[in-house]
Amino acid sequence: MKWALVGASTIASQHMIGAIRAQRGHSIASVLSSSNERGRSYADAHEIPRAFTDLNEQLNDDVDAVYISTTNEKHFPQAMAAIEAGKHVLCEKPLAMNVADAVAMVRAAGEKGVTFATNHHLRNAGSHLKIRELITQGRIGTVQAVRVAHAVYLPPNLQGWRIDNPGAGGGVIPDIVVHDADTVRFHLDEDPAEVVAIERSESLGRGVEDSVMSVWQMPSGVTVQTHEGFTIRHAGTSFEVHGTEGSIFAKGVMTQRPVGEIRLQTETGSEDISFSDHNLYERAVGLFSEACAGRGTPSATGEDGVKSLAVAAAVKEAATRGTGVAVDYGGI
Ligand code: NDP
Repeated sequence: MKWALVGASTIASQHMIGAIRAQRGHSIASVLSSSNERGRSYADAHEIPRAFTDLNEQLNDDVDAVYISTTNEKHFPQAMAAIEAGKHVLCEKPLAMNVADAVAMVRAAGEKGVTFATNHHLRNAGSHLKIRELITQGRIGTVQAVRVAHAVYLPPNLQGWRIDNPGAGGGVIPDIVVHDADTVRFHLDEDPAEVVAIERSESLGRGVEDSVMSVWQMPSGVTVQTHEGFTIRHAGTSFEVHGTEGSIFAKGVMTQRPVGEIRLQTETGSEDISFSDHNLYERAVGLFSEACAGRGTPSATGEDGVKSLAVAAAVKEAATRGTGVAVDYGGI
C-alpha cells in the first residue's frame, strides 16, 4: 500500500511514519506541507521520495491511502478532496471543526466506497484492550461509574497552535476530550447522552481553554467524570471503572506508549493485571489497511470520530453556557 502524508507534523514523525513502515508491503510516497522548504527538509529527514505543496498534485500521484495530520481546520477540506480522488483516508482527531463537517466526511467516504477511519490510538493499547476484556467478562459486575484523569503538562514543542489558535482547533477540549470520549465509548459500548462542564484558561491558554472538568450521563445511568488539562505537571494519568463487584484502577494508560499498570480490586483482594505491550499506532494502521483490503473494520471508524467530536462539542457548549447539554451526534 502506498501512502501520502498530508501534513508535515510531529505526530507523523514521532509515531505514524514508523507505524506505516512497520507494515509489510507499505511505503510512504510523499508528504504535503504548506511550505516548500519545510516539506522538502521533512521529506529528506524521513527518506520520503516526494514533497508537495499542492494537495491535488499529491493526490494525482500513485497512492492508495492518505494519512491526514495537519492542524484541525484543514482536516475537512483535505479529507473531502482525498475521498473525492478515491483514496482511503486515515484522519487525525478531531475529524473536523464541527460535527456537521465530520458527518459529511463519513457520508462522502461511504458514497465513494473508500475506507475512512479516525486515528484514536488509545483503544489500540494493550492496557485498554485488557480493561475492556475485564469489563465484558463481568469481573467488576455492573458498571456504575468511570473516572478519567487526563490532565498533563503540554510539552513545550507542542505549545503552538494548541494554546493560542482557536481557528486551527486549539484548546484542550478538541485535543484531549475527544480521546477520552472515544475511550469511554469503547469501554462502555454506549454514547454519552448529556454533559455538564467547567473550563478554565489558567496559564498556557490564550483565547482557548487549557483545562476542563466534565461529567457525562450515559444512557444506562452510568456517570463519567473527566479532567483534561495542558497545565498539570505531576498528576500522571489514570482511568478507573467502578462496578458492583469490583473496581479497575489503571495508572499511566492515557498515553501514546504501551505503558502503565492495571489493578483489579474485588471482594477477594487486589490483583495486578498484565497486558500486551504492542505499539498502539502499528495496530491502528494494521487494522486500517486490513479494512482497506475488505477485511474487517478499522479500530476507530469515521463514525467513532464523529461521536468523539460530538461529545467534545457538547462539553465546550456546556462549559460556555453553564448548563447541561444533550450530545448531538448529527444524525450518525
Ligand atoms: P504539528 O504542530 O506538529 O503539525 C501540524 C502542522 O503544523 C503541520 O501540518 C505543519 O504544517 C505545521 N508545522 C509543523 N511544524 C512546523 C514548524 N516547525 N513551523 C511551522 N509550521 C509547522 O501538529 P501535531 O503533530 O501535534 O498534530 C497534528 C494533528 O494530529 C492534529 O490534528 C492533532 O490533533 C493530531 N494528533 C493526534 C495524536 C494521536 O495520538 N492521535 C497525537 C498528536 C496529534 P504543514 O503541513 O503545512 O507544513
